Amino acid sequence: MRKLALHWQILIGMAAGVLFGVVASQIGGADFVKDWIKPFGTIFINSLKLIAVPLIFASLVKGISDLKDISKLSKMGGRTILIYLGTTLTAVLVGLLLVNIIGPGKGLEESTRDKLMADFAGDAGEKIKAATAQTEAGPLQALIDLVPSNLFHSLTDNGSMLQVIFFAIFFAIGLILIDPKKAKPVKDFFDGANEVILKLIDLIMLAAPYGVFALLAALVVESPSADLFFALIKYSLCVLLGLSILIFGIYPLLVKSYTGFSYSRFFQGISPAQLLAFSTSSSAATLPVTMERVEEHLGVDEEVTSFVLPIGATINMDGTSLYQAMAAVFIAQAFGMDLTLGQQVGIVSTATLASIGAAAVPGAGMVMLVIVLGQAGIPEAGLALIFAVDRPLDMCRTVANVTGDATVAMLVGKSVDKLHEPRERKLDDYYKPEE
Ligand code: ASP
Repeated sequence: MRKLALHWQILIGMAAGVLFGVVASQIGGADFVKDWIKPFGTIFINSLKLIAVPLIFASLVKGISDLKDISKLSKMGGRTILIYLGTTLTAVLVGLLLVNIIGPGKGLEESTRDKLMADFAGDAGEKIKAATAQTEAGPLQALIDLVPSNLFHSLTDNGSMLQVIFFAIFFAIGLILIDPKKAKPVKDFFDGANEVILKLIDLIMLAAPYGVFALLAALVVESPSADLFFALIKYSLCVLLGLSILIFGIYPLLVKSYTGFSYSRFFQGISPAQLLAFSTSSSAATLPVTMERVEEHLGVDEEVTSFVLPIGATINMDGTSLYQAMAAVFIAQAFGMDLTLGQQVGIVSTATLASIGAAAVPGAGMVMLVIVLGQAGIPEAGLALIFAVDRPLDMCRTVANVTGDATVAMLVGKSVDKLHEPRERKLDDYYKPEE
């Protein structure tokens, strides 16, 4: 019997989860789902997060010390940051273009607007409070935050991934610079640790179809009523169109034209990570799987993935930046404000920076949206308008974020000659089709 490919298994899990959630809501089983199904989704996400930090650490130390030469690192680093900025700016521009052409906020009924404002004022207030802390920091705070004063402190906090990345790169540079004889046992240790963690990802992925089932069933029973969703349908479709242009247009085209990888091979390789991004709404939780897919199925060497992907998961959020630009203009439109060109240019820069600063966790893009709104002079309380549809849109923008990271990893890989035919599915034995 042939075993189904992983992405089909995950898709079936997702569909079954949605169906289960819908039926449970209808027959009054919402509490059952919350008490007995949702915890398995939480366990699944926790297990992914659990290995994210050790994975970043081990793979970065191994990857960078394999480079043997620091000049290669700076070459790769420069390209990575430049391409990340390029894709983020493109995403913001696509978003602005669409939202100005379609104008989803212009037709929003006043009564709907008032209802949304009343219903979600409290939720919006919380996000605004969370964002205030970020805006109060000085201009160089991000740089200060990059360098931890205590490594163990950073290792215990999934929100401090950039600090872990910083230390791992610093450590690996030291490893390159010392006597190779002394460096060897340390490198061997990280090599082995890295293999173990990759194997753990395979094991966790065995549970992926069940994990996404639980996540989606819980999401359905906990989602707010559908009426408000339909009031925001034009805005939602507008964001979805923008994200689709990125995911199905710009990224595969970039990959095809620069690396020769066909559309279908690209999606076959990356789709399990995309599906997990959708189910978990978190680029950070998806990172272990993104790394495994890009390395084993899209053929990028670990020297590149270990560097490009963890950085991408934390700073490159094209879907988030597109959404922030669109949401800001939508809110302005709904309030009858006409944004000047200057304000829109301001949105380009703040949405780019805000997406870089957003954490790779569910709902983070919305917190940073407060900053975009503030800079553009749009009422921050307008956040309440888009609350009802934030979660489904978050799921979709996370797919764009993860796909963008994978694309850039392939481009950087190709540019430094570290892209090859994907290896045999060495670590994939668990879900390899059986003959
Ligand atoms: N959930 C997104 C991510 O993890 C961030 C966001 O836009 O809220 O990539």
